[in-house]
Amino acid sequence: MSSNGNAKRFDAAKEAEIRTALLAERANLAKQIRALGKTSLVSSRTAGEELADVGTDDFMRDMELSVMTEEGKRLALIDMALESLDSGSYGICVDCGVEISAGRLRAKPYARLCIDCKTAREKNDGFPPDNDREIPEEELVE
Ligand SMILES: [Zn+2]
Repeated sequence: MSSNGNAKRFDAAKEAEIRTALLAERANLAKQIRALGKTSLVSSRTAGEELADVGTDDFMRDMELSVMTEEGKRLALIDMALESLDSGSYGICVDCGVEISAGRLRAKPYARLCIDCKTAREKNDGFPPDNDREIPEEELVE
């Protein structure tokens, strides 16, 4: 190990701590998604056989899908956080480039936006206020 050209924001211990938190959150989410998938299979089959009311069945399936999508989005955020940890950009707001506060990262280790930008996006349907950049993945507001 000679020179360290790729300076990181966190020392090894801190980085390991963040990684552990992200992986724990990821495992937890994966479990939830699996459980939801199982529920969805069982309930739609039962509904199809026993309910004449197709509208209700569709409604239930939509509900489950939207939950799945929320979990799926968060899973994607966690994967992006793990990547940024490797590349050294972890903890930097993707919109304005400032460092996300330590308290916010403790609460949400997969946060990609500082609290100001998150608030701004929530008022703008999840998109950055200056919406001339093409960054579809960043509509993921955690
Ligand atoms: Zn920001």
